[in-house]
Formats: sequence, structure tokens, C-alpha cells
Amino acid sequence: MNNNKKLDAHTPMMQQYLRLKAKHPEILLFYRMGDFYELFYDDAKRASKLLDISLTKRGQSAGDPIPMAGVPYHAVENYLAKLVQLGESVAICEQMGDPSTSKGPLERKVVRIVTPGTISDEALLPERQDNLLAAIWQDAQGFGYATLDISSGQFLLTELVDATTVAAELQRTNPAELLYSEDFSQKAMWLIENHHGLRRRPAWEFGLATARQQLNQQFGTQDLNGFGVEQAPLALRAAGCLLQYVKSTQLTALPHIRDLIMVRQQDGIIMDAATRRNLEITQNLSGGSENTLAAIVDCSVTPMGSRMLKRWLHMPIRDSEVLTHRQQAISGLQNITADLQPLLRQVGDLERILARLALCTARPRDLARIRHAFQQFPGIHLSLALIEVPHIQTLRSKIGQFDDLLALLEHAIVETPPVLVRDGGVIAPGYNVELDEWRALADGATDYLDRLEIREREKLGLDTLKVGFNGVHGYYIQVSRAQSHAVPIHYVRRQTLKNAERYIIPELKEYEDKVLTAKSKALAIEKSLYEEIFDLLLPYLAALQCSAGALAELDVLTNLAERAETLNYVCPILSNKPEITIIAGRHPVVEQVLKEPFISNPLLLSPQRRMLIITGPNMGGKSTYMRQTALIVLLAHIGSFVPAEQATIGSIDRIFTRVGAADDLASGRSTFMVEMTETANILHNATQQSLVLMDEIGRGTSTYDGLSLAWACAEDLANRIQAMTLFATHYFELTTLPEKTAAVVNIHLDAREHGETIAFMHSVQEGAASKSYGLAVAALAGVPREVVKRARQKLKELESLTNNATVNSIDSSPAILLNEEVSPALKALEDLDPDILNPRQALEWLYRLKNMIE
Ligand code: ADP
Repeated sequence: MNNNKKLDAHTPMMQQYLRLKAKHPEILLFYRMGDFYELFYDDAKRASKLLDISLTKRGQSAGDPIPMAGVPYHAVENYLAKLVQLGESVAICEQMGDPSTSKGPLERKVVRIVTPGTISDEALLPERQDNLLAAIWQDAQGFGYATLDISSGQFLLTELVDATTVAAELQRTNPAELLYSEDFSQKAMWLIENHHGLRRRPAWEFGLATARQQLNQQFGTQDLNGFGVEQAPLALRAAGCLLQYVKSTQLTALPHIRDLIMVRQQDGIIMDAATRRNLEITQNLSGGSENTLAAIVDCSVTPMGSRMLKRWLHMPIRDSEVLTHRQQAISGLQNITADLQPLLRQVGDLERILARLALCTARPRDLARIRHAFQQFPGIHLSLALIEVPHIQTLRSKIGQFDDLLALLEHAIVETPPVLVRDGGVIAPGYNVELDEWRALADGATDYLDRLEIREREKLGLDTLKVGFNGVHGYYIQVSRAQSHAVPIHYVRRQTLKNAERYIIPELKEYEDKVLTAKSKALAIEKSLYEEIFDLLLPYLAALQCSAGALAELDVLTNLAERAETLNYVCPILSNKPEITIIAGRHPVVEQVLKEPFISNPLLLSPQRRMLIITGPNMGGKSTYMRQTALIVLLAHIGSFVPAEQATIGSIDRIFTRVGAADDLASGRSTFMVEMTETANILHNATQQSLVLMDEIGRGTSTYDGLSLAWACAEDLANRIQAMTLFATHYFELTTLPEKTAAVVNIHLDAREHGETIAFMHSVQEGAASKSYGLAVAALAGVPREVVKRARQKLKELESLTNNATVNSIDSSPAILLNEEVSPALKALEDLDPDILNPRQALEWLYRLKNMIE
């Protein structure tokens, strides 16, 4: 920018601009000039690219032309939405002075800073999705992580030990903005460097003393013991920085943030980033939201309910008391969903409206919506009164009765208010006598004009005389051309028409001025009344937020009740043993998208039957079966009913999946490397209470390597870890594992071959698959008949060659069998990139390599 020249070489206006800009060097400054927000210099160039608006010049200052770009003020929301989407922040600078009275440049001030993680404007936010601001701290002790949802005021802290959990948390919370310290370790940078909305902050903002002081000030407390976070210095550092950032952007009090909650990872089912992705909870593998678990189970009628349900889905809990309460509530609500949902729908997004109330940015329509929400409360109370379920009654008691506030809003706000308070028309007639009087005057709704007209007409004896008003010329007295010679001298001509003349007289002019004053007076009164209503509502903020929270939960539970009924789900029995029993389970998503009927399947895992080795042809349904198990477990742990005829679900501490093969291009790791990293994570962290899904492990390397790895992993899971494991494999060798290992069982997905083709039965049977179907599937996929025939020949050759079939692969390509074997250790070493390993992984590899040589 052009600021190396002396400031006083610039025009006064540009001096003002540059001074404001100096306070916000890193973000775009929207500088209000009349009907436009203008950007100058580098900001103008950047904005013109980002927003696709034209770059112009505005005269000269300090001898150089000023690059300029602008957006009209009335469309500013659209541009802000686009910038926020792109992860940009914007400082909004408004004109404060009155243009008609001020000399020199108008006074201007930055009134708010719009950043992706701190927005509360309706127009800028995705409705059914959380929008979080997060801060991360890292030192030798581990990581501290804090998130804030500015629209609910929910402020959560957590401490994390290792990089894997951090990656999972970042993926789960997916913050719109992520604050990190300038001295964040280079080694851990890979965790966050590709994150959108990344903001580097000075290290002192993460200071522990500052954090304590800031948080105590926010909550009006002496110490933080009450929040149970005193012993969490890492998390506190993150929280301190986060709070300072919000305050610096909002430039207003934050009364709705009044609580700090410490989240303990072990209270929920832990899922790593890969597992979350694989299970397609709220996002499918291509990044969309179709065909996800949320797409099926979320028909919540309020956006706040939808957001809450998605939070639940991403953080299943283990507290069986809470889960039982939810289950009972769902059962209790099942008969009244049809009555309750229409009422809840009318409540709308109370949570976000209240945030705008707290931040004093609520629009007139927000007040009308609060009023509309209040009007539903009695109906909701009534519907819930008869349900004798403790949790429903708890929720009911949290939903307040705000009769006084409702009466106030009914009295004060017009039926359908305009978008902005700026132009008036928000406060209802009858609410304030003074306002009514000024308005009456402003509207000319007195009989003064009629009286004037009669008086003048009679006095002058001019029967064509009449008083009128038009927008351009204001008030006038009109007389026909024929009678115009008879008007007295104090009649001053204002306008000449074809057949008439229009005049103004001092008395009428005076009246006109009074009307104009009355208009601005009425507007001023209206604005102060509007602000007064905020002051009347704000003392109830805590009670209102509590009601909104209860209503959101009620929406989620009612939705789960409706879904259970519509989709034919059953209430699972929760057990505290390491077991899962499912009778006629279904995949909640596949069963909905499939044209053919879905084949339901049973599942039994118990201490005597901990691992299922799953074989069967490609396309047979192995992945579907495994994923449905995980999804049923997940649904059970949010308190939901599940797609099955009957289910008993033990208390699960973690769900792991090692499914499919996707190159993690972003971090530059090969498929095989990704697969092994995920596998390492499972082997290190799985417990007896974990559910582990292993799908086709060992594919990314040569057959012997792959088989050996798969074998060793399966053995480790079964013998040492004793996790509840579903192990799908194409290595037929593994079907001999049950003979050698306790609690391991074969099952397979059934298929029938008819000549060259194959029919998938999708039904799970005990025992191993009887034969390889790889060639039949190839034929089905359209591989030319001749090639399939040749493959059959080759397979026979190979089978006799390897004689007792050391490697009997169910559907691996025979070509792989001809591979010259390089030492697995050498190959692994070659594939290894030491730069991306953390110390722990490096050590693991050392052991692993040593094992491979032995
Ligand atoms: P695999 O993992 O064995 O290759 P998938 O689980 O991917 O097979 O299933 C392949 C396809 O078969 C699915 O896309 C689905 O259309 C169908 N399918 C799977 N399981 C069932 C089932 N239980 N009932 C009906 N169709 C199924």
C-alpha cells in the first residue's frame, strides 16, 4: 500500500481512511461513503478479484491515483457472505456524523468486524450447520482446544494428548476459523496448515494469566473452579485467546456467553478422523450431504434442532442414564409427533435469534419471530403435560412462560415489521403516545389542511382553490389558471401546470417544515423505543436461552420419535458388557436408497465370539454389513432407535474403521501409508470395548506382504486386544484363523453362481465363503469373455503351481502372484517418509521393521 508516504501528503479523507486501515492491516476494510462501501489500494485489488467487481480509480492522493472498488450498501450482505465463505474477514466502517452539518470528512468508525467464525447474521450463516470459532494451543504437555458457537454461546474446552485425537477433533468440529499461536510448533503444523480460516495470533494472547483474567471478567467470577477447568492450563490458554478475539471483533458485550464446559474425550465414543469420514455421518465421501446418516435421520423441524442432532451424531455418548432418558422420551413422544412438530416448526431458530438479541444486532423481524415463538409455548406445554416421562417433564420445566414479554412484543411491534429499523414502521400504533402524535403530524393526518383549504377558498372567493401535496414540490395551494389572477400577493408561485397554478404561502411552508421535523422526530423516538425493548428483553436472556435449548432438544427427540416410527426402527437394549447382538439389522442409508428390498442380517459379538472373519465376493455386501453395525452402535449411543428388529448394544468406547483405499493427497501420503497409519492407530488404541471394522487390509502392497500384515493384525486384535472386530478380507488364508485362535469365527456373504454369472444374496451366513468369485464378478462387470476364460486357465495353472495354495486369494489378480518378492522390510523402508512421522510413529516403525526382518 501507498502508506510509506507521509500521511499528511494525503487528502483529509484519505488520511482518515489510512488511519482506520492501520488498525486493521490484515483484513479488508469496507469504508462507507454515502450509498457505497468503498475499498482502496491493495484491499480494492484483492476485493475486486475475490468478489469479481470492477477495479476503478478515485482521483489522486499524495500524488498517486487511488485504486478503488466498491459495493452498494443495500447489497452488502451478499458480498459479505461470499467473503466469509472464502474465509476472509471484513471490518465495517460506518459514517457516524451528520453529512448536512459536518465540515471536512465525516466522522467514521469501525462498528463491527465480520469474521467467518464469529458471524451471527442470518444471511451469512448456513441454517442447519454449526458455525464455530476455535483456538488451539500446543506445548510439550499436549494440546489445548477451545471452541465457541457464538449463536448459542456454547463455549467448550478440551485437552488432547496426541496428534491423532487433535486431527479427529478438528475434523469433528470443523471450525470456520482456527486461531493458533505464532509459536505453534513446526512439527505439529501439518495438523492445521491446510485448515480454512487459519489465523495466526500473537503468543501473549495465549498467556495463562491473561486467560484467567479474561475468563473471570467474562463470567463475573473470582476463579474458575466452578467450571472445573482450573487443572486444564492447556485448554485455558486456548480459551483465553479465543475470548479476546471474539471481543475484539464484536466490539460489544457478550452476555450470552456465560459458561465454560470442559469436555472429557472419554465421555463419548471416540472416533478418529478416518472413521468419521468412512461412516459418512454428516458428509459423504465426495463432500456432499446426500446419502449420509444425517440425511436419513434428520427431519428436525427447527434449524437449531438439526444442528443439535448433528452434534449428537458426531459425539455419541456413553452415559447410559442420559441415553435411557432419551430413549424413554422418544417412546413417550411417539404418539404426539404429529401435534408437536407443527408447533415446534413455528418456534424456528430461537437460538440464533437470541444470540443476535444478546449482541444487540437483532432485526425487527427477529423480535416478531420471538413473539411468534412465545405464542407456541402454551400449546407445547399442553402437549407435553400428559406425558409421564421424567425427561420430558424436565424439558418442559425448562421451557419458560414469558407472558409479560409476549404482551410487550404484541403491543410494541407491528404485525409484519420491515427488515430494518432505519426507515421506521416497526413500533406499533398505540404503544407510545408521543410517537403516535409525531407520526400523526408527519402523516399530515390532522384536519389542518382541510381547514386551511376551506378558509382560503371562502376568504378569496375562489371555488377552484385546493390544497395538495407532491413528493417533489411539497405542499401547495392550487388555483385554476382562470382564477389565478385573483390570488393575493403573499402567494408565491411554486409550479405552473397546463390549466392551473400552484402556490406556497408562509403559513403552509411552516406547516411543511413541521411535518418534516415530525418525521425525523418520530424516527428518532422509534429507534430509542426499539432499543428500550432490547433492554426489557435482555434480563430474561438466560431463561430464554434455557428455553431455546430445551426446545431444540425436544425437536431432536420428537424427530427421532417420528423417524423411528416412519423408518421402522426399534429401541435398543443398552448393556454394559462387551457385546453386540443384532437381529435383522439394516443399513439406515442403503435401505433407503436401494430400489430392491434390503436384506436384513443378524450379528452376534460377545466375549466368546469377538472377531468375525468376513469373506464373500466383491459386491456381496461386506462393507454394507460392517458399516451398518457401526451406524447402529452409533445411533444407539445418541439415544436413538435403530434399524433392526431387535438389538442389544454393549457400552462401546471407540469405533475404528479401516475401510476402503483413499489417497490422502493433501498430506502427500500414499494409499498404503494411509492404510498403515490408520492400522497403527487402531492397534495402539483399541480396547476390549472397541468396535473395530477392518475392510480389506493389506491391499496396497504385494500379496505376501499384504497377507502377512492382515494375518498379524487379525491375530493381534483377537489375542492381545480382544476388541470386537469385523474383519473383511479377500485373503482366503485368514479363514483358517478360527481353528487356531479362540473367539474368532468365520462368516460369509452368500452368493450363487449361475454359469458365467453370479447372483448376490446379500445374506450373512456362518462359515467361510466356499469359493472364489473374483472371475465371476469380473465377467459380470463386462470383462470380455475371452479374457475371463484365459484367466480361468491361468488360475488353474497358478493353483497347481503353488500346489498347496500358500496364498489362496479370493479375488486378487493372479498377476500379483507372479511378483518377484522384494524383502517386505526393504519395501516398507523405501515407502517410508520420515518427515511425516511423529516420534511415536517412528518408534513403531522401527519395531515393525525389525519384526519384518525376523
Ligand atoms: P462388498 O463390500 O462386499 O464389495 P458392498 O457392501 O459394497 O459389497 O455392497 C455392494 C452393493 O450391494 C451395495 O451397494 C448395495 O447396493 C448392495 N447390498 C449390499 N448389502 C445389501 C443388503 N443387505 N441388501 C440388499 N442389497 C445390498
